[in-house]
Formats: sequence, structure tokens, C-alpha cells
Amino acid sequence: MQFMQAVMDHFEWGQYVLLLVVLGILALTEHFWPRRVAGESHQGRRRVNLLLYALGGLLMWWVAEPVQTAAVRLGVSLGWTGLAGGALPDVPKIVIGVLLVDAIQYVLHRASHAIPLLWRMHQVHHADAAFDVTTSVRHHPLEMVALAALTLMLCAALGMPLVSLLLYAVLQLVHTAFCHANVAIPLRWDRRLRWVMVTPDMHRVHHSQRMDEGNSNFGMVFPWWDRLLGTYCAQPALGHQGMHLGLANDNNNDARPGGFWRALIQPFGKLP
Ligand SMILES: [Zn+2]
Ligand SMILES: [Zn+2]
Repeated sequence: MQFMQAVMDHFEWGQYVLLLVVLGILALTEHFWPRRVAGESHQGRRRVNLLLYALGGLLMWWVAEPVQTAAVRLGVSLGWTGLAGGALPDVPKIVIGVLLVDAIQYVLHRASHAIPLLWRMHQVHHADAAFDVTTSVRHHPLEMVALAALTLMLCAALGMPLVSLLLYAVLQLVHTAFCHANVAIPLRWDRRLRWVMVTPDMHRVHHSQRMDEGNSNFGMVFPWWDRLLGTYCAQPALGHQGMHLGLANDNNNDARPGGFWRALIQPFGKLP
């Protein structure tokens, strides 16, 4: 458990260092082995995506303490220890905890498409007209805070072991960057990989403009919830080169100057 203690001690700043390293490696891989060779302009939208993440990170840092305190209070007020206090040995408890956090992410992602208030914020992620590693950090700052708070509250209510939460946070950080990468993974590897994790081809389907494809593949790290609950879509109808990414009927081309501000106010505008 020494390793976990080290993760806990350095998590706050370590996650940003890890994210930078992962983003850098994947950006280089995208450059040399791209999956989609599309004509989208990239510099403007990449800057918007990174700026949104920087602002979201600041907001998270500002609200982290009150949100954590509220989650601890909720856990205490429920008067049970949940999974953390159960009779299971440590390792199965931690593994079940990681799977449960991923299931919570699946449910919250599905809810983000079904509940208008959540979709207002989540549409900013889908408004990216292209799909690459910077899309992974493109979230409205309010969505980052809302989803982190909802996740923490649900985990507190279920009595999630803290180690499971931290392990999942590291796993998700690396995996979210990976599954948005515009990287050409050989198809036979992709077929095998997607039995155990969401792959870039699988998640790209979720960024399709088509409603049926956009409302599929909600899984974050593990692909099993989609397969079990009937929301799995293997490939886009127009293929990965021909599919249209982003939001249908959306003029939010973030390569134009001002795209950052448009993304910030997008949740408060009229829904299409
Ligand atoms: Zn989505
Ligand atoms: Zn995505």
C-alpha cells in the first residue's frame, strides 16, 4: 500500500503532470499515425479546448474543499459505511469500487444526454468539430464541477473506498485522453481492445452528428455497460473517414476568434 500512499500524497499536482505527459505522447502519436486525415482547422480549436480545461481546473481548485466536505458530511449522515466497511477482503473491495465508479460515470454521461440542464453543459464537449486528444479536456468548467460533485456525492452515499476513487481518477485521466486520440490503431487490435476498454474508434462514434450514434457508447473506461444496457454501436454508418463530427445545426466553429467565449456562453443559449 506504499504505492497508494504515494499516489494520495502527490495526487493534487501529480495529476496535472501526468496529464501533460500523456497529452504530449498522444499528440505526437496523432501527428505520425492519424486515424482521420480530415480538412478541419486545428490550431484555433485546440487552443479553445486547452483554455476551457485551464479555466475548469481553476474552478475545481476553488470549489474542491467545500465539495469534499459536503460529500464527507453526506456519507456520515447516512450512518452506514457501505462498500468501504463491508466484510470483503481489501483487493476485491477496491476492484468492485473501481467498477462501480465507472458505472456511475456511465449513468451520469447518459443522464447528460437525456436531462436538458446537464445537456446544456455537456453539448460544449460535443461541439468540437473535430476529434483529437485535446477534445478529451474540452468540457465547460461548470460541467467539470457539476460532474465531479455528483460523482463524489454518489460515491460517498455508496461508501466507496478512497483507494478505488483515486485509482479510478488516475485510470480515467489517462484513458479519457487515449480514447479521444486521433490515432490509427490496427483494426484487429481495436477489435480485441474494445472487449476490455473503450477505444478511440468506439468513442468517436459517440461524437457523431447522427442522433442514433451520438446516443450510443456512453462508456468512459470499460465498454461493458454499453454492451449490457443496449447502447453499444460498433461503427459509424458513414465510416470513420466519412462521418460528420460535432453538433448538427451548430455554427460553433471554434477555430474562429472568439470561439472560447462562445463555448463559455453556449450552455445559456437556446437549445437547437
Ligand atoms: Zn456525450
Ligand atoms: Zn468525448
